[in-house]
Amino acid sequence: MKELTIKNVRRAGSDTLESVTVENGVIKGWNLGDLGTVVDGQGGTVAPALIELHAHLREPGQTEKEDLASGLAAAAAGGYGTVVSMPNTRPVVDDPAIVRSLIEKADRLGFARLRPAAALTRGQKGEQLAELTALKEAGAAMFTDDGLTNENARTLRLGLEYAGSLGMVVSVHAEDATLRADGVMNEGPVSEALGLPGNPAAAEAARVARDVEIVAQTGARLHVQHLSTARALDIVRDAKRRGLPVTCEVCPHHLTLTDEKLRSFDAIYKVAPPLRTQADADHLLQGLLDGSVDCIATDHAPHTRAEKERDLLEAPSGIAYIELAFPLMWTRFGEQLGLERLLDLMTGAAARVMGWPEPTLEEGAPADLVVLDLETERTVEPATFKSKAKFTPWAGESLKGWPTLTVVNGKVAYQRQD
Ligand SMILES: [Zn+2]
Repeated sequence: MKELTIKNVRRAGSDTLESVTVENGVIKGWNLGDLGTVVDGQGGTVAPALIELHAHLREPGQTEKEDLASGLAAAAAGGYGTVVSMPNTRPVVDDPAIVRSLIEKADRLGFARLRPAAALTRGQKGEQLAELTALKEAGAAMFTDDGLTNENARTLRLGLEYAGSLGMVVSVHAEDATLRADGVMNEGPVSEALGLPGNPAAAEAARVARDVEIVAQTGARLHVQHLSTARALDIVRDAKRRGLPVTCEVCPHHLTLTDEKLRSFDAIYKVAPPLRTQADADHLLQGLLDGSVDCIATDHAPHTRAEKERDLLEAPSGIAYIELAFPLMWTRFGEQLGLERLLDLMTGAAARVMGWPEPTLEEGAPADLVVLDLETERTVEPATFKSKAKFTPWAGESLKGWPTLTVVNGKVAYQRQD
């Protein structure tokens, strides 16, 4: 395969303009001259491509919302080189043949790399474990019943033990379904003022507490998805202090939006777990700063516009924004977190959660790279999204930190055109 050289780029923390050459899917070296195809990085910052541990790509079966082509192209445009897709599709990804076909199809597309999560239980019903060994052999990256909530604690225990014996991570959507009941937003003064059914913070905290105790009993790895409340984070912190193998992710939407947004009655803000209070968001940011939050994931969850235009009681939950996750985080929190910490939260930290090799820019490392323009402010224009969900809570906002080039496996997966 011919070389690809990206010139005029700098590594995070350096002012020196350099060039990097990739060949055969790996980094061939730095400052080797203009070998092969040359792309001008225009002074941008080069980093290992971002890693997304939580995206809903909706294939198979819900491709009116998103499919592998649109979702993985959107991911590449967002600077992601790897995406873990959630298995709550139609049918559910609980069959090794589906895992294999998703990976084969994604490989042919040439956008971001797909690492599908498989269901922990058959049909994600939470009762009988799926064929975890066969799913792992087919290429499943993790096990999760995300979208649903693992109500049966004994099944989760067995799943953790079984997955643990395979060296696999189990991820959980930690909400007590009976406690959140039919809540459509965070329970609190705003839900009371609006007269809408609330989903209490306790639904998340109680479930995280239960799951931490199961981890204490089994010793198996558990990852808490889209952690949204201060109280649940305190429970994770305490579990870490006890030395338990628990990790957690937070999502940019829980850091940047609060339940006040629901005063618009716009279901674009309906998400599960729901948008919480500013105090929760501040606590999550503190968790990113002090290391008690492990990584950032988006929970990219596209739906059709018609679905999201239904009223709050009826509309499905989910916000889709994989294309602007890095710009959103960099613009809002770049100063507090710093570039290197933010990049780590979206690359190396995610890899460590999964037990994957640490992404690096060293010679011989996989050629999954992103070039980021950290300076230029651009308006969020959903019409230009590669995702099928061409609407977002941040439409019209001015953000900086946009990816200009994403290279996956040594090939250009995205290049900004203007
Ligand atoms: Zn979820």
